[in-house]
Amino acid sequence: MYQFAGIDDDHYRHYLFLQGIIGKGSIMISIDLTTVMIGFVFGNLICFILLFSQWRNNRTHYPGLGWWTAGFFANLIGIILLTGRDHLPEFFSMLLGSLFMVSGILLLYVGVNRFLINKGLPRHLLFLVVVYIALQTYFIYIQPDFRIRNILFSTAMFFFSLQFVWLYFRQIKVEDRPIARNLVIVTSLFGVMALARVLLNILVSPGTGPSHSSSYEAFAYLVFQMLYIVLTLTLFALVNRRLYNDLERDIAERKKVESALQKSEEKYFKAFQSSPDAVMITRIEDGKIIEVNDAFLKTIGYERVEAINQTTLALGIWVDISDRERLVEDMRKKSVIRNAQFQIKTRNGLIIQVDFSADYIRIGDEDCMLSVIRDVSERKQIEDIIRLRLTLWDYSILHSPIEVMQKALDEIEKSTGSQISFFHLVNDDNATLTLQAWSTNTKNTYCKTEGSGMHYPLEQAGVWADCIRERRPIIHNDYAALTNKKGMPEGHARLDRELVVPIIQEDRVVSVLGVGNKPINYDEKDAKLLEYLASLVWSIVSKMRADAQIRELNQQLEEMAMSDELTDLANRRYFFLRGNEEIIRSRRYRASLSLIMLDLDKFKTINDTFGHDTGDQALQCVAKTLKAQCREVDIPARLGGEEFGILLPNTQLEEAVNVAERIRRAIEELHCMHEGKTVAMTASLGVASTKPGMKVLDELFHHADTAMYQAKNAGRNRVVLYE
Ligand code: GH3
Ligand code: MG
Ligand code: MG
Repeated sequence: MYQFAGIDDDHYRHYLFLQGIIGKGSIMISIDLTTVMIGFVFGNLICFILLFSQWRNNRTHYPGLGWWTAGFFANLIGIILLTGRDHLPEFFSMLLGSLFMVSGILLLYVGVNRFLINKGLPRHLLFLVVVYIALQTYFIYIQPDFRIRNILFSTAMFFFSLQFVWLYFRQIKVEDRPIARNLVIVTSLFGVMALARVLLNILVSPGTGPSHSSSYEAFAYLVFQMLYIVLTLTLFALVNRRLYNDLERDIAERKKVESALQKSEEKYFKAFQSSPDAVMITRIEDGKIIEVNDAFLKTIGYERVEAINQTTLALGIWVDISDRERLVEDMRKKSVIRNAQFQIKTRNGLIIQVDFSADYIRIGDEDCMLSVIRDVSERKQIEDIIRLRLTLWDYSILHSPIEVMQKALDEIEKSTGSQISFFHLVNDDNATLTLQAWSTNTKNTYCKTEGSGMHYPLEQAGVWADCIRERRPIIHNDYAALTNKKGMPEGHARLDRELVVPIIQEDRVVSVLGVGNKPINYDEKDAKLLEYLASLVWSIVSKMRADAQIRELNQQLEEMAMSDELTDLANRRYFFLRGNEEIIRSRRYRASLSLIMLDLDKFKTINDTFGHDTGDQALQCVAKTLKAQCREVDIPARLGGEEFGILLPNTQLEEAVNVAERIRRAIEELHCMHEGKTVAMTASLGVASTKPGMKVLDELFHHADTAMYQAKNAGRNRVVLYE
């Protein structure tokens, strides 16, 4: 096709003869050269249009298509210029035509280069084209030589075909070679043709006559025309092959991605399924369960088919429905929830404490949350125990042991998920029982039978008392099926399950703690927990009881220290303690406090006459008389020997004198009997009252004492007031 660059005027004007051999004979076909050229132009045009449409379809996929289409276009222009040589100046037809054709090859090469290895134009080719144009110019204008121009053109073409071979063997990756193989064959054929033309031009002078040279040229045109069409098809096939390869690769890649996706999905599903924590995916809007793992099903006790597509509301897992509302609100606000604590209900009604964390996820076009739920009931139990201890200690300050027990039972019921609970005391005889305490719930809603303090013999107690007989925890998870029951009193709650543990102290079962009607079976863990709780409560109650005993003893001791052993009146110590208190009070309330001092007259004689014991009895008689003559608020005391003092709060001196006189008379009239004889007694009394500014009892005491001695000195059996 490119050979036109070498066609000379003379040859062009002649007819061409194509000599072909068919069978044995030889035929001569004569063709007008202009017709061949015009055919060539149209052939080129069609090839260009085809490649142009290919470029339009695939330009975004691959680089290079535009370049080679441009190459074909340049070629087309070159041929048109050459064809119109009769009517165009030499510059356009020869020089530009030649330039367009060589540029066409160059652009084709650039296109292929870009398409196959995505590289630009090698610089040396550009340089070559410039050299080529310079030489062409020289052999057109300065030293016109048709043969050399022919050789030049064919050499350039040969060089380019070598360039393709080099590209194929040295530049393209081995795995890409198959798609470029046809292309390199076609371009090599061009190269062979170009080489043949070079040889032909050297061997046969193009100017020797039309019959010779023209018939070769005509043959060459047709071969080039064919190669040109084959090249177009090859370029088409090249692109198609690549498209096909890419498609195949895409499919393979997609398959790989799909399988990886499937694998990863399986992996995540396995991770999801085998998580030890309960995991659930729900729709936020209504709590519809989209997916749950086995741990979740185990925790709440439902089968997969029962849970999936149900709402958490319908399953009834919320103990407090406001928990859900709170969580949904939090989720909408923050898209994340961490360590929320609340209770949920399992299928069999057991309430468990959970630690809840969740994250917002979107599945399709629905707002969902991925929740992780951890059963922290055991941890909660430990916390409950610690809290219970503190609560009970606090509670024990202001409450009785029975109240503490009841409070403990209320808490224990919650911790063990029970609905009934009680404490029974084993009496010291080891044969009878006393019901000590029931939980509030048991008392209010379960047992309508007789309450706390109920006594009955151990042998009449039901199977629950096996725990006393066998000294170990007893679990009855199917109470109704027990054969050796003794029956229950009227109004007693129905029992489904029970767990009873003994409280052993100093090798004796002292009490039992029982719980009942947990929604699911009691187990060894419950028994251990209950044993612990029982001993905890018992230790608190025992301590309370011991404390109470100690308090009682202390009170007795204190009373002993404050009272007189013989007469049971207040003793001297108490008299002075109270006396000082009363002084302070009288000052504060501006009330007067009076004091009567009393000493029995000639008591020594009584002792001497009747004996010491009779003396003691006489003292007791006097003490009784004093008590009888005093008001509730007065404080009579024995100060020592046969000497007494009486504090009279809020009492004026005159009034106190009256009291003293009354006492004196009562003693005088006293009939204290001894062996049928009356022991007669008299007493001397001194009376004094507080004065403004008096601060301590001693002063008042001293006054009354002085008055009392005055009474003695004045002849005894009389009352003297201190003035
Ligand atoms: P006076 O009228 O002067 O008070 O004569 P008195 O004999 O009562 O003399 P004083 O008060 O000094 O004597 C106290 C006597 O009371 C001495 C003692 O024998 C007797 N006495 C003191 N304490 C007791 C006691 O606890 N029991 C008996 N039986 N006698 C006591
Ligand atoms: Mg005395
Ligand atoms: Mg006396």
